[in-house]
Amino acid sequence: MNNIKLSLSTPTGKLSGVGEKYLKLLKSVGIKNIHDLLFYFPRRYDDFSKIIPIAGVKEEETITIKGQVWQIKNQRSKIKRKFLTLATLADKTGTIETIWYNQQFLTKNIKNKDEVILSGKAIRSKNKIILQNPTYEVIRNKEKGLKETTHVGRIVPVYAETEGLTSRWLRFKIKPLLHLTDKIKDYLPTEIIKSKDLVVLSEAIEQVHFPSDKESLKKARHRLAFDELFLIQLSNLKQKLAWQKGIGIPVKFDQQLIKSYVSSLPFKLTNAQRKAAWEIFTDIEKRIPMNRLLEGDVGSGKTVVATLAILQTAKCGYQTAYMAPTEILTQQHYKTISHLLKPFGVKIALLLGGAKTQEKIKIIKDIKEGKINLVIGTHALIQEHIRFPRLAFAIIDEQHRFGVEQRSALRKKMEADFYPHLLTMTATPIPRTLALALYGDLDLSIISEMPPGRQKVVTKVIRPLERKKAYSFIKNEVEKEHRVFVVCPLIEESDYLGVKSVKKEYENLSKKIFPDLKIAMLHGKMKGQEKDQIMEDFKQGKHNILVSTSVVEVGIDVPDATVMMIEGAERFGLAQLHQFRGRVGRGRHKSYCFLFTESPSRNTYKRLYALVRSQNGFELAEKDLAIRGPGEIYGFRQHGLPDLKMASLTDLGLIKEAQAEVESLLQSDPELKNHQALAYELTKFKIIRHLE
Ligand code: ADP
Ligand code: MG
Repeated sequence: MNNIKLSLSTPTGKLSGVGEKYLKLLKSVGIKNIHDLLFYFPRRYDDFSKIIPIAGVKEEETITIKGQVWQIKNQRSKIKRKFLTLATLADKTGTIETIWYNQQFLTKNIKNKDEVILSGKAIRSKNKIILQNPTYEVIRNKEKGLKETTHVGRIVPVYAETEGLTSRWLRFKIKPLLHLTDKIKDYLPTEIIKSKDLVVLSEAIEQVHFPSDKESLKKARHRLAFDELFLIQLSNLKQKLAWQKGIGIPVKFDQQLIKSYVSSLPFKLTNAQRKAAWEIFTDIEKRIPMNRLLEGDVGSGKTVVATLAILQTAKCGYQTAYMAPTEILTQQHYKTISHLLKPFGVKIALLLGGAKTQEKIKIIKDIKEGKINLVIGTHALIQEHIRFPRLAFAIIDEQHRFGVEQRSALRKKMEADFYPHLLTMTATPIPRTLALALYGDLDLSIISEMPPGRQKVVTKVIRPLERKKAYSFIKNEVEKEHRVFVVCPLIEESDYLGVKSVKKEYENLSKKIFPDLKIAMLHGKMKGQEKDQIMEDFKQGKHNILVSTSVVEVGIDVPDATVMMIEGAERFGLAQLHQFRGRVGRGRHKSYCFLFTESPSRNTYKRLYALVRSQNGFELAEKDLAIRGPGEIYGFRQHGLPDLKMASLTDLGLIKEAQAEVESLLQSDPELKNHQALAYELTKFKIIRHLE
């Protein structure tokens, strides 16, 4: 089809039929050359491989038939004047009529007497069974003769379609390029391909687009899934090895000190807290820098656990840097941690962004001189030119809010060649399997229980008819000087039918429902400072109700907030809903979470009732993972989930297999010196993983 010699690196613009318009469309899905096109995998398949006799076509079934076109013509529908294309198809067993809407060009492609295959749904229309909008392919053209099929009569690939980029078009373009798969280098070590009985990459790519049969498709997908998990594990384990090459400062455990601190606390540590603390103490005693993730629901007592290690670090004469994602959170931490640690002589400073005041200059100077044991700050910690002479411990709160670069920047704050022990903390419950797949480079501590005696947030699923009642309940709460959160799925109105948006709901509540209450609005498109101000005002009680998008998710403490009302609750994952719920019930008042849904399907209710029954974030995340899959539980962009096309992050078996292969490979060739192609593939893979 082309005069030029094609290779994998040939830009798509060189392909026939790819003009400005298609170039743009292809680019929008990340396809720039033939290689990209071949690695643009189908999303699903239609099995049109079984051709049935026309006489066997039954209504409401999706079928594939083969026959000769008796007659094809265009006409306008009588009432609405729509373009119709009508055809009659015949095989030895009978005839069937076919109708297409708004595709008058079809009569140019399909002619009388052509032999065609049609795949589609049979419906009943005026006592006849007809085919409606079937996919078609001419197999024996009256003039041009026989050809192999692409769109029907086989397992047909269906691609993710963006506006104007159809599966049919992609099939046309990809099929003639399949011979180039021979040129694809297999980067996976031959030993692994053999021992794991995998198909080679070129074959996998060819078969994943146009599989010869179901079995080959399965093998192709298995190979590609293995590769994805293998590359994630390789990236993780290499990172872990690199990390462990650094030298950490041993922080010696002082039982007496920790005992007296623990007994000074106004509560007893939970077993989960003890275990996590013990794991951290064991790590920081070593010369290998710690790299540990501490997971636990909001309020499970992570901060308290962190203070144990901070105290120990300070008493050994070293410094700790504690970084949190927002100013409000940072101030909150500063307050609670000061309260806990100041009595033990720990010198603590708060460091925020903004102007270089005299006070700030003094703090930076004190840090440099080692007078400060603990600095709690925002990004300012890494932005300012601060050097810590004795930094042995670094903590990152809500780690998913920070990028990889910020993490490594914090790591390099130490003046000498040492690396601080790193503890990252998150309240996002990531199930263990998922954490294993994604954060294999980190060690994991999970606080899976809440301190005893916590009051539960009363959770209710609200049906459309009960809305009025819920509003009067809210009014009542506001009269008690309590605060109310309203979370909506979108910022602005969109095409989604009936989904509430922040802007519209803000209008609705402030004008119609509660005209005499003070209502504010908050969403992700606002500036950081503006958001902080609104949150602060809300906390102070200057607003009664805060209408917002999911930005309220992160650990804000508004003790007087007693109602969390979530619109379009079915659109959020259970783990996320649980996080919203964690915004209330933080004070002494009884608190409520109302889940509004306008989509009263049984499945929706079933899913939402899981939230009514359970107040355990991990349990809910596991459930969500099983129901919706990993990509859906947390919007992956936000949490840096890699965009896996083939593998499932819940496939524990395959994850472990991949991990074992990576471990033995890195043992024999830690720098991948004898596996250059794989090393190169890994650099490409990292780029994808870190584009957060
Ligand atoms: P997280 O950081 O996990 O959200 P915090 O460490 O801030 O949780 O603890 C939340 C609240 O619970 C704080 O007021 C803290 O003092 C309290 N707390 C922590 N551990 C316990 C415990 N074992 N028993 C009772 N209260 C606790
Ligand atoms: Mg916390």
